[in-house]
Amino acid sequence: MRKLATLLVLSLSAAPALAQSNAELMANDHYTRSHDYDLVHQRIEVSAFDWDSTSFAGRVTTTLVAERPGLDSLVLDEGALLENTAVSDRRGAALRTSRHGDTLVVFPSAPLAFGDTLVFTVAYRGKVRNGRGLTYITPDGLPHRPRQIWSQGEDMDNHFWFPTWDFPSDKMTWEVVATVPREDMAVSNGRLVSDVTRGSSRTLTWSQDQPSATYLVSLIVAPLVKIHDAWKRVPVDYYVYREDSAKAWPLFHITPDMIDVYSTLTGVPYPWAKYAQTTVADFFGGMENVSATTLIDGLPDARAYRDRPWYPWILIPHELSHQWFGDYVTTVNWANTWLNEGFAEFMPGQYWLTRLGAHTAQDYYLDEYRQYMNIDRRRPMPLASLGSNNIYPKGALVLEMLRDYLGPEPFWASVHRYLEDHAFGVATTDDFRQAVLEATGENLDWFWSEWMYQAGYPKFDVAAAYDSTRHTLTLTVKQTQDSVLPDTAAARPGMPASVRPEASRVRFTVPAVFRMPLVVRVGTAAGDVTQRVEIDAREQTVVVPGVQSAPTMVVFDDGNHVLKSLSFDEPTAWLANQLSRDADLWDRGWAIGQLQKRTADGAAEAALADAAVHADYFLTRVEALEALGDFGPGALPAATAALADTSAAVRGAAVAALGQLGEGSAQAASLARGAWTSDSSYEVRAAAATALIRLDSAGARDVITAALAEPSYGDAIQNAALQAIAQRNDTTFIGAVDQLVGPSRNAVYVLAALGARGSSRALDLLAGHLDDARRAVRGWALQAFQFAMPRPVGLARLRSAVDGLTHPDAKQAVQDAIRQMEAQPGR
Ligand SMILES: [Zn+2]
Repeated sequence: MRKLATLLVLSLSAAPALAQSNAELMANDHYTRSHDYDLVHQRIEVSAFDWDSTSFAGRVTTTLVAERPGLDSLVLDEGALLENTAVSDRRGAALRTSRHGDTLVVFPSAPLAFGDTLVFTVAYRGKVRNGRGLTYITPDGLPHRPRQIWSQGEDMDNHFWFPTWDFPSDKMTWEVVATVPREDMAVSNGRLVSDVTRGSSRTLTWSQDQPSATYLVSLIVAPLVKIHDAWKRVPVDYYVYREDSAKAWPLFHITPDMIDVYSTLTGVPYPWAKYAQTTVADFFGGMENVSATTLIDGLPDARAYRDRPWYPWILIPHELSHQWFGDYVTTVNWANTWLNEGFAEFMPGQYWLTRLGAHTAQDYYLDEYRQYMNIDRRRPMPLASLGSNNIYPKGALVLEMLRDYLGPEPFWASVHRYLEDHAFGVATTDDFRQAVLEATGENLDWFWSEWMYQAGYPKFDVAAAYDSTRHTLTLTVKQTQDSVLPDTAAARPGMPASVRPEASRVRFTVPAVFRMPLVVRVGTAAGDVTQRVEIDAREQTVVVPGVQSAPTMVVFDDGNHVLKSLSFDEPTAWLANQLSRDADLWDRGWAIGQLQKRTADGAAEAALADAAVHADYFLTRVEALEALGDFGPGALPAATAALADTSAAVRGAAVAALGQLGEGSAQAASLARGAWTSDSSYEVRAAAATALIRLDSAGARDVITAALAEPSYGDAIQNAALQAIAQRNDTTFIGAVDQLVGPSRNAVYVLAALGARGSSRALDLLAGHLDDARRAVRGWALQAFQFAMPRPVGLARLRSAVDGLTHPDAKQAVQDAIRQMEAQPGR
């Protein structure tokens, strides 16, 4: 699964443990739920979907095997809104049942012996609270939004649409038999067994013949066309709305090549009957349902490829890698979810490494690094822990570090071992360590302790001293990370106390000492000197001999093989030298960050200006331009030159640097105007609009008006204008913004921003959308009142609006929101 927000993980685990260490809880498999049968197979038949009442008819036949002698009751997860009409055994005899909340208990007619098989069928009237288990989408008069339904299981929502064992520890095979309106397609897991149209309906039967986890059962019902592709003899299909047909092939056709690279790297050929990618509305990103990934429906147009669309860069390769990591081998419980998400976030970088080389891979992981630093700043948590906040980026970075440490061949042999040892099964974090041990003979217990079971990363503080008589460079290396974590870290607002990670009273620790080998590189007039160093103490001295002349550059951790932060006060000349010579993008980015602080230093500015134009990878040019933005008019020559760059990202950074010069620079305004009128990239034009609004306040109104009306991929240009309106608090655009509500969701948030700053007209219009004819818009408006303005303002407006609402769902939702907001501590 991939989305921008972090994953909310709920626990069904047992009573809180008393101040145990995270490593103990993980080693003891504390978070895996017990049950007393083995779920073998489910045939899930669904029909009679009704979009108004978010209901359907269901019939699920379950095969399971008793794992307790004398088993007289079977506990399944089943959403309370599913209303059972008959529960019967294989011969049709009725079975007694009882219901408790979201639980179903089935009593077999006679107790089962250990190893006995039971087959029973639950027929039910299905209904969902829209968005839990199934999401029903109505067109609402909005463009690009056909009527549809999609399921979302992870982490434990599939039991809201069919009774099952809703936990990853027990795998099964399954069939999905969906009867849908004849104009619709139903996409599910595995192979398509039959597709029969009768009268006004169509029944499709899908069969998932290899076992996988129940949260990966998937169903999409929508008017879709299939675009067929293949990897070897495996069908690779893209299901999109008819209007998106022409965009599908250019976007998705990279998939077979990705399947090929992943199959080669892991040594496990793509394991499933087919691979489908299906796009749907209002999805949060992507979900790796086994052999049938679900994706959000914003396909790039041809021009959007001038920028770097999210889909091929990370979304498609992330969900695809889950077909191995998550679907083929699955985390045994939600505390080991990094095994799914860390690998899925790591693998795209390996694809880019294989196809485009080291710089592209470093670019990919640098973004993960920055995400991780932002997360860790809020709360350091271990990668392998319940509710961990960093499983995506830290997972990717730790795996990349492990690959560097072991070397590619031992690393991939270990990954292969892990996948083969647990094929179609489940795994713990320690199973992966065991696989490395089996494949390489190396016990990495220390690595797992530092990087998986404890939190944080080494914060290095380095100082250098050169001795010209002994020809040595001495580095004093300190690790300054705080190993005592505050236990008062804030939980997510609204998260029930019982499921907050700290409620389990787990002790999280950060190693006082991270042990890792690394290399120090010292540049001199006569060439570089390198020294391998074993970092293993809180404070240590590293002596590099053979430095014949004064250093011209010192690189601590050459090649950036350790996940770290670095504080190292170096002369500008060293940093400038490193920026022009160091091949590693993290190192370069770090050097740029140091130079950026030296705004009074002409040598720092010159080094950045040089990198902005001449660096051999676009990201370095981008970062140098971003840094130059702090240098005032000195940025102008480099930014001017960079406007002619072949990379749109560099041109965008150049125009943003111009924007930072502010009102008064006619030359900057003229250059930004040129980019706004004629650049071929959406993102550059969006950046140019933003810059121009800042540089030329007299012309700002015209630019905003034009940008609001300008179509672009992801509404990049329109969003730049909306953001400018919010930032300038420009209430003269309220009417124009309101016109965009619906096609644009961001327009809702701009109304909220203006309202929060005192515009009662914006609040009135926004309150009107609480009762909008379009269901989706009603939800957005409510969210804006709830989350996008100070609570007293939002709450007061909701209270005054609630009685006048005519849509029952809206009234209910607003009432619920008022209750929630009243119960929240003030903010
Ligand atoms: Zn994922």
